[in-house]
Amino acid sequence: MNEEKLARTIQGEIEKATGEKAAVSIEDSVARLDGRFPSNQSAVDAGHISAGFEQVRGVVNEIDYPGRKPFALPQKVSDELTGKEFDVVIVGGGVIGLAVARELSRFNLSTAVIERHDDLGIDQTAHSNAMIHPAIATEHGTLKWEMNYKGNAMYDEVASQLDVDFKRIGTLVVAENPDEEQLLPVVVEIATKQKDPDPKELNRAELDRIEPGLAPNVRRGVLVWNTGIISVFELIIAYAENAMANGVQFFLNTSVTGVQTEEGNIKAVNTTRGTIKTHILVNAAGMYADRIAELAGDRFFTIHPRKGETIIFDKSYQPAQTVLTSFSMVAEKRSQYSKGGGIIPTIDGNLQFGPTAEEVCDREDVSTTSAGLEALFNRFAPVLERLKPRYEKPDKGKIITHFAGCRAATYKEDFIIEPSKKVKGLVYAAGIQSPGLASAPAIAERVKEIIIQEWHPAENTHFEPKRKRGKRFSELDHREREELIRTNTLYGHIVCRCENATEGEIVDALHRGIPAKSVDAIKRRTRAGMGRCQGGFCMPRVLEIISRERSIEKELVTKSGGESFILSGKTKQVKK
Ligand SMILES: Cc1cc2nc3c(=O)[nH]c(=O)nc-3n(C[C@H](O)[C@H](O)[C@H](O)COP(=O)(O)OP(=O)(O)OC[C@H]3O[C@@H](n4cnc5c(N)ncnc54)[C@H](O)[C@@H]3O)c2cc1C
Repeated sequence: MNEEKLARTIQGEIEKATGEKAAVSIEDSVARLDGRFPSNQSAVDAGHISAGFEQVRGVVNEIDYPGRKPFALPQKVSDELTGKEFDVVIVGGGVIGLAVARELSRFNLSTAVIERHDDLGIDQTAHSNAMIHPAIATEHGTLKWEMNYKGNAMYDEVASQLDVDFKRIGTLVVAENPDEEQLLPVVVEIATKQKDPDPKELNRAELDRIEPGLAPNVRRGVLVWNTGIISVFELIIAYAENAMANGVQFFLNTSVTGVQTEEGNIKAVNTTRGTIKTHILVNAAGMYADRIAELAGDRFFTIHPRKGETIIFDKSYQPAQTVLTSFSMVAEKRSQYSKGGGIIPTIDGNLQFGPTAEEVCDREDVSTTSAGLEALFNRFAPVLERLKPRYEKPDKGKIITHFAGCRAATYKEDFIIEPSKKVKGLVYAAGIQSPGLASAPAIAERVKEIIIQEWHPAENTHFEPKRKRGKRFSELDHREREELIRTNTLYGHIVCRCENATEGEIVDALHRGIPAKSVDAIKRRTRAGMGRCQGGFCMPRVLEIISRERSIEKELVTKSGGESFILSGKTKQVKK
């Protein structure tokens, strides 16, 4: 079909489905949509309809709707980076940018990571469910599927080299009646086709060993054992510390605001802190990857934020050992474009219900809602109660926190990992929504392959793949604790009582690798504030330690960077 005819066909399909008329044009297989629609959802539907045509490579959706957020570039603050030059600049310090940075540090390439926040991984990555998904739920043949099954298989090595807690707990699909038992071989067949290794059908005795206390009517199930859970905050820091040890430089609090090209080649990036010269730009900008593409004159996709809310229970409630799944949960899947959330344990021993999936207008929308909490509880609590009747019932009183993050979805709903077709030196790792965490090692390897194929860098013979994490007081036995306290008495001061995090660990986090600067950055590195009281007890103490170690006034300590100051001033003068 020629592009004019295709545009008319798409326009007709959009009108049929939404009742609205969009202006549609197609150039080089990229569909551009303009117009004004009554809601975000109808504009998103238009994007998906357009992307559904095989001939369409990507969709640039400029349809306006009530509540749409205009995009504004941040102001320049200094010129301190002008004059710097790197072979590779990576925009985005999320798990993808960091995994790519580490992979590239295996070569003699000078590499910089530019991150707009004052800490790493705090957009999508930190809001994920920290699950290393099996590939069973991804669409066979997509890039997502390929990266998922390859990335999943790489995690044992990555976690061991980077000293990150990682455990394969498996996804357990249980049958609750004889009809569902008939479907178990189909689950095995799908998992095998998806390249999840060796899925197993289990009888009751085998189920009891893996997931004790299941209801008597549950007689059989399938274990897709390669599902993993990981300490995602540790992973972020570990990737960064290892990349840094191998020569990568990091520039935080720095936003990319422009891309300079010359005769179709990448030449430099403009940032809020000056211009950095480079000839390779890796676009790993998550929620803003389409904006970076636009700055480089190569926009062919749009990121539409899909929010996911998650609730987390206190550690005292641990009813599931696996990612426990029933056929009713699969049948009830709420969105065509999401795996539908689940009952997911974390590596630290908390249980999660989530995430939800909701198209939102604002890429920065990380708000939690009572509707989200109710939807998650009402969906998963009855399943858990039914499958594990001998355990304590799920109780809202045991929810210790509720968080949300947006997924960076494109209308094609697949990852984009490729060199730009228009700009030499621009490489995409974009549209990395779920399961991007599970896929990260494979995505990094793919980006590396693209770069070595084109630029043939020499190997870095000094590359050190291993990184060692700092001491964790809570994991030591009595004798080790005593020894540690003897080396530094600060390890004898418990600051967070819920998680047993010590002043020694907090001070380490303020000085090592990528130093923590805010209360939340300390929380992500040490778990101080992650327990039952959610920082109610330790936050003032953490604030004092940050102020002391960074030699800044307490009023200047932030919760999470920017202007998120915790204290507004003194309430009373202390008499000397
Ligand atoms: C609710 C939720 C649950 C999820 N659960 C899972 C899960 O259990 N398992 C799984 O595999 N995946 C999961 N995912 C998906 C996973 O989190 C993402 O795919 C992955 O984190 C993407 O990483 P990223 O580095 O591409 O993006 P991000 O983590 O968003 O990083 C991109 C970075 O780019 C920076 N940036 C953007 N623009 C600029 C600029 N102009 N200048 C400088 N920096 C810039 C941002 O600040 C950000 O830090 C989940 C996602 C969500 C939202």
